[in-house]
Amino acid sequence: MTTREGTVSKAYKFRLYPNKAQDTEIRKHLWASKELWNRLLENTKQRYDTERKFFSRSELQSMAKNAGLYSQVSQAVAHRLHRALKAKIKAKREGKKWGFPRFKSFDNMKSLYYPQKGFKFCSDRKLRITRFGGINIKKHRDIRGKIKTLSLKREPTGKWFAIFCVEQETEKPRTNSGRSIGTDLGLINFATLSDGTIIKNPRHLGKHEERLAFQQRRLSRKNVGSNNREKIKHKLAKTHEKISNARLDFLNKTANRLLSNYSMVAMEKLTSRKMATQGRGKWVNDAGWGKFASILRYKAESAGCRVVFVDPKGTSQICSGCGALSDKTLWDRIHDCQQCGLVVNRDINAAINIFNRATAGQAGSNACGDETTVSSLKQEAHTL
Ligand SMILES: [Zn+2]
Repeated sequence: MTTREGTVSKAYKFRLYPNKAQDTEIRKHLWASKELWNRLLENTKQRYDTERKFFSRSELQSMAKNAGLYSQVSQAVAHRLHRALKAKIKAKREGKKWGFPRFKSFDNMKSLYYPQKGFKFCSDRKLRITRFGGINIKKHRDIRGKIKTLSLKREPTGKWFAIFCVEQETEKPRTNSGRSIGTDLGLINFATLSDGTIIKNPRHLGKHEERLAFQQRRLSRKNVGSNNREKIKHKLAKTHEKISNARLDFLNKTANRLLSNYSMVAMEKLTSRKMATQGRGKWVNDAGWGKFASILRYKAESAGCRVVFVDPKGTSQICSGCGALSDKTLWDRIHDCQQCGLVVNRDINAAINIFNRATAGQAGSNACGDETTVSSLKQEAHTL
């Protein structure tokens, strides 16, 4: 979706409670849209095989008619396929690897997309959707801005959600606080701030891991297509959902906490190298660094705050006090500078370096800010 200048697009997600008949009907439409996608893709492949040509957007659109779907929804399927093909053609032209989009199973077709019309709020508790009627909705917060699109989404647990894309006017940058902070994302702790604050890592996956493994083992022993298998699959999906909800909640709260205290947050550019050197990919995933960066950026935009990404090179090796290099392995938890004598937790040292990089060249605030931070840390360091 494109946005006008001075606006940002935001998504709102609300739980839907369709009745039995509506649930069946939406599933039917989801099934029909899967069939439509596969049919259009099949025709596209056939044409490509015989004529080496692709259908145009409007050709696909007219082929999508009479699919048993609301016209806007079937158009959206055609447009989605067209976008996917365009990306493939572009990749091919640039000499990159390319392949056709994939056929979808019912499990892979997760949402019905309403690009402009076909839905309307009757009240805060009812959303009217063309073909399905008024569906109960839990609108737990107000929508600010202009609603552009709706997706009806089915989670693997079978719950339905309405996701609205909304265009909002950007807020004026905040000027009250003006304070800046550096953050070092880690594995032992989720984040360490340049003022010495530590944000602990919630090991959601660890807590639920046993249950997951247990359910997965049970699933592998059940016969494909059996009732029991479906039941366990559903339980497994619930566990996954629990973990990802808890994780998302933590990331959102952490981002809010930072942005309500600081108007500039500095962090490292996340490179795959950093993630790789940290190893233990599972924990990296669990910590959700990439997700956190995008949540922070997204929230900062509408809060009028800034997120500055700095070059991650050497942030944990360089001394934040004097700039000398002090080599350490991943297991050295303390930064102990032979040059200036600074002794400090390695993550705090990195966070200060990140802060320094982001604020370099900003006269005044930078220099004195560092002095106070470093000297107070020196005191703290003795207790480490
Ligand atoms: Zn030093």
